[in-house]
Amino acid sequence: MNRTLVIVGASYAGVQLAASTRELGFDGRIVLLGDEPDAPYQRPPLSKGFLTGGFANERLPLRSQAFFDEGKIEWMPSTRVVRIDREHREIELHDGSRIAYHHLALTTGARVRKLDCPGATLAAVHYLRDLRDARRLAQTTHTARRAVVIGGGYIGLEVAASLRQQGLQVTVVETEPRLLARVASPWLSGFMLRAHTEHGVAFEFGRKVVALHDMDWSVSVELDDGMRLVCDLVVVGIGVVPNTELAADSGLKVAGGVIVDACARTSDPSIVAAGDCASFVPHWAPAGARACRIESVQNANDMARTAAATIVGRPQPYRALPWFWSDQYDLKLQMAGVNAGFTDYAICGSVEERRFSLFYFRDDELIAVDSVNRPQDHMFARKLLANGARVSPQAVRDPAFDLKTVASRDAPAPRGVAQ
Ligand code: ADP
Repeated sequence: MNRTLVIVGASYAGVQLAASTRELGFDGRIVLLGDEPDAPYQRPPLSKGFLTGGFANERLPLRSQAFFDEGKIEWMPSTRVVRIDREHREIELHDGSRIAYHHLALTTGARVRKLDCPGATLAAVHYLRDLRDARRLAQTTHTARRAVVIGGGYIGLEVAASLRQQGLQVTVVETEPRLLARVASPWLSGFMLRAHTEHGVAFEFGRKVVALHDMDWSVSVELDDGMRLVCDLVVVGIGVVPNTELAADSGLKVAGGVIVDACARTSDPSIVAAGDCASFVPHWAPAGARACRIESVQNANDMARTAAATIVGRPQPYRALPWFWSDQYDLKLQMAGVNAGFTDYAICGSVEERRFSLFYFRDDELIAVDSVNRPQDHMFARKLLANGARVSPQAVRDPAFDLKTVASRDAPAPRGVAQ
């Protein structure tokens, strides 16, 4: 029987889902549609090399045309799904046409959270999520001299570094008392603050932007303590909001994301969801933990693989180890595992030379490793965390500590975490 898989959203999760279902032998029709006009592309370079000019545009596409041709993946650009008709198993497009599905995958991602204050829609205000945003921003950085970046998360910091590298004066405004408060340990926040400060970035912590004022050729950013920062360019990186409206309107369970089980199934067995839009209880979370979303390329790809296995009838719970990276200046940050609730940490390498790894422990268990300019450590750390091999803080602090050897050791009790 010729079955149809319709995938809504053509970024990392959507593309990987198409690839994985084919690899797993799905021989029905695969329709991959998305509302963007560009062929699916890499997003991480948009806040880094794409802005500084160090990333060749030819490298942007996620997959070649041959991938779509040979995999018989029907990619439909600039296509917006307006409704899911679950009763008839059809989706309705913006032009009123309909496509019937046997399996539906929601990989709709997330959109930027918008600044909500007077002046927020001034032309000098930029966001960075998709290629159109990045192109628009890249056009302004040559003429701007002063930038205010709102938000000290990864997007804000990557943009701050890119703008500094182009010679702009940069001030970052962050509501929390430290950088990367949502995801990084205070130690790493402090390290990143020092790095940015040394590169000349100024910071305003614990402040809110209350208004943006148009001053003809410039913008004045007003903070809640009355301070005003005058600039030519404002870049806002204050997080994202998941695209869950389609799911919610069709009656699927949604709570901060499209709720899925460990096999990426939504509350409708013929619909899966994966990537930034999907909310689930991660395998590493303590018992009783609430569902959450994970915003990363790793999660999009690995969850898509899980969803594909479900679609072909071979469900496997999602067990992948989370990892993430960020490039700022000459710093390559790579994170493996989740450091939430750590009780101890140990460092190997040289902080002074900016080549080190930070090991996080909860009680005696290694739970996460952040590496700075030590890509080999990151790969070994992923292996170590995945196979559950034991290592102590004391061992890491020993100058003779050899991560490669430890990571290669057989694990005493594998936790079954797949890479
Ligand atoms: P992103 O992916 O955009 O970097 P994060 O949630 O990781 O998203 O980081 C966003 C950062 O922006 C957080 O550190 C958060 O505290 C900060 N933030 C959120 N709202 C504001 C605001 N109105 N002004 C300044 N900073 C903000």
